[in-house]
Amino acid sequence: MRIWNRELVHISYDSGIPLIGTVAFGLIDRGTNIIQIRPTSICPLSCCFCSTDAGPCSRRRICEYLVDLEYLVEYFRQLVFWKGAKNIEAHIDTVGDPLTYPYLVDLVQEISEIEGVDVISLQTHGAVLRESLIYELEDAGLSRINLSIDALDPVKAKRLSGTEWYDIERIKELAELIVDTKIDLLIAPVWVPRLNDDEIPRIIEFALKIGAGKRWPPLGIQKYEAHKHGRKPKGIRPMSWKEFYRRLRELEKKYCVKLILRPEDFGIHKRRKLPVPFKLGERVLVEVKTLGWLKGEKLGVARNRAITIIDANSIPIGVEVKVEIIRIKDNIIIARPVV
Ligand code: SF4
Repeated sequence: MRIWNRELVHISYDSGIPLIGTVAFGLIDRGTNIIQIRPTSICPLSCCFCSTDAGPCSRRRICEYLVDLEYLVEYFRQLVFWKGAKNIEAHIDTVGDPLTYPYLVDLVQEISEIEGVDVISLQTHGAVLRESLIYELEDAGLSRINLSIDALDPVKAKRLSGTEWYDIERIKELAELIVDTKIDLLIAPVWVPRLNDDEIPRIIEFALKIGAGKRWPPLGIQKYEAHKHGRKPKGIRPMSWKEFYRRLRELEKKYCVKLILRPEDFGIHKRRKLPVPFKLGERVLVEVKTLGWLKGEKLGVARNRAITIIDANSIPIGVEVKVEIIRIKDNIIIARPVV
């Protein structure tokens, strides 16, 4: 199966591909009580600032991934157990938009029944959200939606999302609906200098007006960063962190709302972390299983980890190849072929 002329790769138990090791799908453990869950890499939008170059207009991606529901839940269950089975937040975030996962409601339902999972949160731009889905997610046990609204002005919203059919008026209505359910709402705009400076105060006013943030803060403003493999709007330079916090402090005073957030605001704390079975610079024999998500990459497997192999254009799928490990942070493993 293909999507936007890219291969759609199914990751199941039978694929033999572990769910730890890549940012593109599976699970990420960064040593806290949060476990990031990435069931799909697909996104319907093409935001001009997208850090993961997602969506139909992506120029770097060569495939998308979809993870089998039961495989994902079982892997997650084991990781929750490993991390102590208490006060775990399951954060469904993805390098695309989780609402594109066809089994999202079942995923939320199944992980809500796992002992030790206290919070289930979801990061989305909401482009394909609908009323019935909100109610289904509420019944399934979703605790919070982090909804990215980058502009309230319809023209700017379309421009930022890189999508003509993106309908901010509809998303505003759905945001108001979320507030009336048991699901908490956090509005999380990406602040892109010059493109939505005037929109940020309006978004704060909107969040406060509709009553976002009952259990957690109402807003989580994110700073635009120019990522190596992401999309970068022409002529836009990211704000410095100093400038970003200065502006947030000003807005905090003006609107009497907390905008500079800390891990404690979300109950985030350190927790036992999965060991990394590699050392930096180590040479390892890897089985090449499928395409990597970006041009020139393949996905390999060794020692129960998925490994992204860069500079792998000429390496066929199905062979074993020797690679050098060049990144191991948070069990996200990147390697390069040894020539
Ligand atoms: S920023 Fe989010 S919603 Fe926008 S294209 Fe990227 S992944 Fe999709």
